Amino acid sequence: MLLRAFDNAVMPLRCVFCGMRTREPEKHICAGCNAELPRIESPPPPVSSPFHTVVAPVAYDFPVDAAIKALKFQRKLYYAPAFAELLCEACRELPGDIDAILPVPLHWRRRWFRGFNQAYEIGKPVARYLGLPMVRGVIRRRATPSQSGLNARERARNLRRAFVVRRSIPHRHVLIIDDILTTGATVRQLASVVRAGGSDKVSVLTVARA
Ligand SMILES: [Zn+2]
Repeated sequence: MLLRAFDNAVMPLRCVFCGMRTREPEKHICAGCNAELPRIESPPPPVSSPFHTVVAPVAYDFPVDAAIKALKFQRKLYYAPAFAELLCEACRELPGDIDAILPVPLHWRRRWFRGFNQAYEIGKPVARYLGLPMVRGVIRRRATPSQSGLNARERARNLRRAFVVRRSIPHRHVLIIDDILTTGATVRQLASVVRAGGSDKVSVLTVARA
């Protein structure tokens, strides 16, 4: 960590997508690549949605899909600050009353195997950027089998009672952060335990939307 911080201090960063040096110091995605990303307009959540606001700046499409897979499955952790950059930019679309951040928890066993929780890695800089605390005491109760390859109904069944809140949540409007929003089953399940834990409103911020 210290070494990486030192690296960044003495050398300009290179863009995670094209490898060129970024002109703005601290940026992990160059202006050219940023402009080329598969942007999506976040539609308002449907009336029956359990979320106050859902924001996902880019589509799960090239090169974002490949980068998310590389982060999660090949431990390419240098993508995490780049994704956090996209999330911080997208924060302007969020309501102003959000008072805490909750990266989607991983079961401890999966976190142990992977070595990190990607949602936490991209959520931590967002919490810092917004000056907000992380929600404590929400855990993933059991190691759910991988969600990929399951249909929406199987995912919902897979996730039932997957999260548990260990203490009451003193925050009114919690922002759930994850890398990708697919069917929304994971965040819906998480939102229901967050509200049961004491929050009034839940919003969602993900890097990509499939
Ligand atoms: Zn670039």
